[in-house]
Amino acid sequence: MQKPLIGITCSTLVLADMRGVPRYALVHHYVDCVLEAGGLPIVVPSVAPGHADRYLARLDGLLLSGGLDVDPQHYDEEPHPRLGQVDARRDRFELALARAAYEAQLPILAICRGAQLLNVALGGSLLQDIGTQVAKPLRHDQETIQDDAPSHGVAIEPGTRLAEIAAAQRIRVNSFHHQACDRVAPGFVVSARSADGVVEAIEHADPAFCLGVQWHPERMPTDAVTRALFAAFHAAAEARTDAARA
Ligand code: MN
Repeated sequence: MQKPLIGITCSTLVLADMRGVPRYALVHHYVDCVLEAGGLPIVVPSVAPGHADRYLARLDGLLLSGGLDVDPQHYDEEPHPRLGQVDARRDRFELALARAAYEAQLPILAICRGAQLLNVALGGSLLQDIGTQVAKPLRHDQETIQDDAPSHGVAIEPGTRLAEIAAAQRIRVNSFHHQACDRVAPGFVVSARSADGVVEAIEHADPAFCLGVQWHPERMPTDAVTRALFAAFHAAAEARTDAARA
């Protein structure tokens, strides 16, 4: 049986000590978690958006990875003073890829920036800076030596796919973000929030796997919810692979 091919998007890294030559970069953990679940990971570079459909035709699942802030022009807002760095090329490509994947009902797992990108791609908006725009905010940009250590709690909405996957109503997660989903895209529901009301997960009501989490499950690879999340994503991609070959 062929393993489902899981496309993972990546960042562009420009380092002064590498003569400023741009490089594609991806934290290894995403690849490791897809492999561990039984999939075949492939890193998808941010190329011209016209190639999005061609990638989509080859993939069995899409993992939208973490990274920089999404440019607020994509949800019709002006930049907040605390907006971080943006990557125009990555935004353009990933927006096209996420829309094409959604249209094709390809299983989508979106992580951190990925969840925000997915929401924006399908018509939602973002909270540009939690620290200054949320009343009594929690600390969402944790600083720890071990980034597999969870830092805040999350309440999961009963009856959602995430609740079924996590088999719990409250979990603890790590947190490396200063933005979050605000207005969710049409057809999506909020499936988890932290105590300050910040959206920590979104999902589409459709049967196709389409789920975004604001934390970094891949950096907690032995966590039971991480394993369940990647296993569920893998099962959806595998079912699609099998259906395509039947
Ligand atoms: Mn958080």
